[in-house]
Amino acid sequence: MTAQSAAPAPAAPLVDPFGRAISYLRVSVTDRCDFRCVYCMAEDMTFLPKRDVLSLEELDRLCSAFVTRGTRKLRLTGGEPLVRKDIMTLFRSLSRHLESGALDELTVTTNGSQLARYAAEMKALGVRRINVSLDTLDPVKFKAITRWGDLARVQAGIDAALAAGLEVKINAVALKGVNEHEVDDLIRYAHGSGMDLTLIETMPLGEIDGDRTEQYLPLSRVRADLMDRWTLDEIDYRTGGPARYVRVRETGGRLGFITPLTHNFCESCNRVRVTCTGMLYMCLGQEDSADLRAPLRQSESDALLHAAIDEAIGRKPKGHDFVIDRRHSRPAVSRHMSVTGG
Ligand code: SAM
Ligand code: SF4
Repeated sequence: MTAQSAAPAPAAPLVDPFGRAISYLRVSVTDRCDFRCVYCMAEDMTFLPKRDVLSLEELDRLCSAFVTRGTRKLRLTGGEPLVRKDIMTLFRSLSRHLESGALDELTVTTNGSQLARYAAEMKALGVRRINVSLDTLDPVKFKAITRWGDLARVQAGIDAALAAGLEVKINAVALKGVNEHEVDDLIRYAHGSGMDLTLIETMPLGEIDGDRTEQYLPLSRVRADLMDRWTLDEIDYRTGGPARYVRVRETGGRLGFITPLTHNFCESCNRVRVTCTGMLYMCLGQEDSADLRAPLRQSESDALLHAAIDEAIGRKPKGHDFVIDRRHSRPAVSRHMSVTGG
């Protein structure tokens, strides 16, 4: 047998040791951001040197390698993906996989600050749906949460996305004493414009300036409270992710709950994450990772890259072990959400 034929067939779909097909890749295209959300970053963040960050060409190679191995859905995230210089070049090059049918979906999670500029172009390149993070509709609270953000600009971005024909899902992190009494308004806002709303529990990722146990608001409590005023009908809708959805009878809109701390959603996990430096994380709640930048930069062929991906997927763990340590309020996982992009 030649050395070449002994190498894993590059087209073989990725399946982990627990039989889960890996069909969803989330890629952080930058660690930088134009906001400083209190639960995500410290105000004074040190960002990575540019040479450590994958170039747009390297990001395209990496994503394309996953697409040849069965990735059907690609989500670009960050940091703030839309502040990366020339990011539309990456959308454009990746859109060839949508055209060929190899990829079902190219999407993005964004804070919305640059949407007014890019929404129409993304739509033209084949993006159908996007997630926009928005925790409050109160401009003063918005400033307090994001430190640097401007609510009016984000709302203008959302309007531009809807006008361009993009489906928009609003993601809101539930924060005790901050937006806990605003969920009704968020439901009316999102559903009033035909957008889904998903509520997310805070996750213990990375050192921040404050105390996480003070921010943590269990969604079981939010849900019980909502049921005093809304009729929440269980529905079967699944996006392949951890969100569980209900339909709000009064609005007809969908409301999702992501409860990583109180629920176990690992058994159906189909996803892995890559950071902007090419570190592959097989599980959001575990430290284990694999360096894909070295094999990317070592050779122009993708053989080393595929071997590294195979080796890493071979150790994707069964599940996570998130816990907010109430005595020390230390993060369970030391990297920030802006590294793996959520
Ligand atoms: N900048 C983009 C944005 O804000 O949508 C993309 C990256 S951001 C890290 C992705 C999502 O993670 C956002 O919805 C944000 O609210 C959420 N997030 C950040 N830190 C979090 C934490 N500690 N717990 C839960 N969600 C978090
Ligand atoms: Fe930036 Fe998104 Fe983190 Fe907010 S949540 S600081 S917008 S990366």
